[in-house]
Amino acid sequence: MRKPKIRELKEAIISLVSRPYTAKFPAEAHVPFERFRGKPQFNPEKCVGCGACAIVCPAEAIKVEDIINKEGSKRILTHYSGICIFCGQCEANCIADKSGIKLTKEFDIAYFKQEEDCHCVEHELLVCSGCGKLIGAKKHLIWTIKKIGHLSFAQGTLLNINQEILEVKSEIDRKEVKKPLNRTDFFKIVCPQCRRESLLIDESIKS
Ligand code: SF4
Ligand code: SF4
Repeated sequence: MRKPKIRELKEAIISLVSRPYTAKFPAEAHVPFERFRGKPQFNPEKCVGCGACAIVCPAEAIKVEDIINKEGSKRILTHYSGICIFCGQCEANCIADKSGIKLTKEFDIAYFKQEEDCHCVEHELLVCSGCGKLIGAKKHLIWTIKKIGHLSFAQGTLLNINQEILEVKSEIDRKEVKKPLNRTDFFKIVCPQCRRESLLIDESIKS
């Protein structure tokens, strides 16, 4: 048998009197280090429902589901930690000051069922009163109003939201717009296509 070297003997003696390097998890709770990237978590207060985080996610761990119907339309953003690679791109590209979704220090994320593995956030959607096409999440449109300020009064959909914010109207007028559209429909909740139509049809009648 080969004799141990001096260095190995020294390491063996030091390890006898020093604390173990590894943690006693799960007997003792593990404390992640400062910049640890754990499970991302939506903040429903801050998130505006734009869907940018889902677009930039390289693992497609965030799904965006738009449910459009007459009773009320909504967008559901769902994060699946079983697919997530904890890269942090969602947080870095979040338009809501990087706080609509944030990586937490949560690392103990083993689940028995897929349903337990996801968490979601819901947003009200606005759809075109003319053709029923999606316009966007209401909170995202409010975010846009804050960005462009008074310029938002020149756009029909944003004008309607402004009126609600300023309490000129108790709520947004979502009444269906009958086709063919006319110039007054320019100021309703309509998509860009219908807004163009409302102007063009009006001009064509005059000429
Ligand atoms: S951390 Fe990366 S992989 Fe996970 S949801 Fe965010 S962008 Fe997607
Ligand atoms: S506000 Fe941030 S978290 Fe919410 S959908 Fe947009 S990018 Fe994602």
